[in-house]
Amino acid sequence: MPAFQTSPGMRDILPADSARWRRLNGVFAEVVEAAGYGQIITPLLEDIGVFTRIGDATDVVTKEMYAFEDLGGRQVALRPEMTAAVCRSFAQHRPTVPWKVWYTGSNFRYEKPQRGRFRQFDQVGVEVLGVDDANLDVEVIALASEFFQRLGLRRVKLIVNSLGEPEDRARYVEALAEHFEQCDLSEQSRATLTKNPLRVLDSKREQDAGAIATAPKISEFYSAEAAEHFATVCAGLDRLAIDFEVEPTLVRGLDYYRRTIFEFQGATLDSAQNALGGGGRYDGLVEALGGPATPGIGFALGVDRTLLACEDEGVFASDDRRLDAFVVDVVGGGAAVEVTAELRAAGLAGDRGYDNRSMKAQMKLANRSGAAFALIVGEDEDANNTVVVKPMARDAGEQQTIPRTDLISHLQHELRNLR
Ligand code: AMP
Repeated sequence: MPAFQTSPGMRDILPADSARWRRLNGVFAEVVEAAGYGQIITPLLEDIGVFTRIGDATDVVTKEMYAFEDLGGRQVALRPEMTAAVCRSFAQHRPTVPWKVWYTGSNFRYEKPQRGRFRQFDQVGVEVLGVDDANLDVEVIALASEFFQRLGLRRVKLIVNSLGEPEDRARYVEALAEHFEQCDLSEQSRATLTKNPLRVLDSKREQDAGAIATAPKISEFYSAEAAEHFATVCAGLDRLAIDFEVEPTLVRGLDYYRRTIFEFQGATLDSAQNALGGGGRYDGLVEALGGPATPGIGFALGVDRTLLACEDEGVFASDDRRLDAFVVDVVGGGAAVEVTAELRAAGLAGDRGYDNRSMKAQMKLANRSGAAFALIVGEDEDANNTVVVKPMARDAGEQQTIPRTDLISHLQHELRNLR
């Protein structure tokens, strides 16, 4: 065992997995940039206050934060999520609205590591600030849905709910508390009840199932405005032929959520970790961070879990990046250095052998690299300014000796024929 390993819940993403990671980010960027979103890059570290403003009913803030004092005596934290950081940025820079941004990056939560749950994990997501329109809720949900589609995922379930207006929600929470007080809840849910009755609906414990099934429904508490907003969202999703289910027990952690909330679940993942991502509308967060009252909506999708779901469904596999050519340098001279540089300058993917190893050893490397051609530079070729071009695929034809001056155009021609 080496002296050092990654900390629990943290991983190295090695090639070729990292390429899949990058491609996933590329797909996400394509989907959201085509809808007018610009990328925001915020620091990994923020004043701890940015996150404690999210509310103290969430474990993310109360129990799981990587918080410490920096050398200047500031209380800081590694970001556990991005929404608060984006709202902090909005309050700081006061951009014109609507402000549509997307992000990708790592978050940190001190959780118990398991499949699909890490202490450093990545999310991609969007936030839109300054728009109350229900059609924006539809747009945002549709973007996440389009992203999963483009990855090839088919077994993703969308559930939506509305928490109503803050007053509707307050009345609902009261009724819910009254209901749960009468029930025989699990010990954990009893504790949750004293802090946030809504979160009892999140319980997956069998003992709580009956109490949850008979609990009052949020829809009974909607104001006319909230009901209309939610109806518009559902109608919009129907129009776009996006499958969804209204799930009255869906609540989400943030205290600031109002109206539409949603979650995407991966059917192939274990139920405790089946949330691929989610989001919703929120109010008051920008204000709490010192900005003007601004409505917001967004979502965050877990990259790690999305890739696990892709593996489970056998889609979005890592495609080995094939090299175009591998330079086998038998003389250890300047010719191979030049040939390799010329390949790369021409936009071809090229690698080479080093250390003057034997022809056989270097051909093995060429093979392993998956290159379409080996370019062999031996004594004769060095003297005559030529290169031997050897197709690597079986039955791909004979090797040819090509003058250096024609090499690039020859390879480009041959590669076109291969594709
Ligand atoms: P949240 O910010 O808690 O709503 O999480 C949004 C998404 O991020 C979840 O649905 C997961 O896909 C992902 N996620 C959250 N926490 C973790 C974690 N500890 N490890 C891996 N993915 C996570």
